Amino acid sequence: MWDTTNTFAEIEASRADMAILPVGAIEQHGDHLPVWVDWKQADALGTGIAGRLNGLLLPALPFGNSEAHAGFRGSISIRPETLQSLVTDIVGSLFSQGFQRVVVVNMHGGNLVLKLAVRALNMSGTAGRVLLVFPPQLAASRLTEIFPQLNDEMHAGDLETSLMMHLTPDHVRPGGVNHVPDVSPVFFDYAPMKSYCPAGVWGRAGEATAEKGRRALEIMVDETVKHIESTFRQLEELPHGEP
Ligand SMILES: [Zn+2]
Repeated sequence: MWDTTNTFAEIEASRADMAILPVGAIEQHGDHLPVWVDWKQADALGTGIAGRLNGLLLPALPFGNSEAHAGFRGSISIRPETLQSLVTDIVGSLFSQGFQRVVVVNMHGGNLVLKLAVRALNMSGTAGRVLLVFPPQLAASRLTEIFPQLNDEMHAGDLETSLMMHLTPDHVRPGGVNHVPDVSPVFFDYAPMKSYCPAGVWGRAGEATAEKGRRALEIMVDETVKHIESTFRQLEELPHGEP
């Protein structure tokens, strides 16, 4: 695996043609977790994935679209078009240097614009291909073995708290609450989270353990790597044709 601790000469000599771009967010995660959670998780997933695929790991983008967390101090939101521009420019820069395969590893559900960014890049007629992956979704069926009520794990609950207890235990405070609101996740589009999750938690943070986090990370890396390999294989098998 290669990353930004390498020199340009080492990156050239590696002949790596795949790059991994993790994307996170800086936003509230209850009163028990730091605001950097999604960024840290994006970096951890990116590191695991790049290691398995021998790709070039880029630094995780810290900022994302966090409008739903308005009212919680420390939540930073950039405009969707800003995130789209950033990802488009970074992937374009990689393509221009001969990287053929780029994987955007998203760890924040609110970064909806990434789908548009990736579609536009793939349809732009460049030689390279870019995938967008959301590991918690790709690994959902195996994650339910650890978190039977995975559908309730929307934000700062059992899944995210367990991951942080494994990754950065010194940064986890006591006191994560269990709270599952009586509304559907589409409410993220309708009203600030603070109005239905006043503590900033949607899930069961009180049930988190570091061991669950360790297993969840392993499963997400594993399922995401399998998905990336099979998707690039399928893309290669498609008949050539300019969009
Ligand atoms: Zn999060």
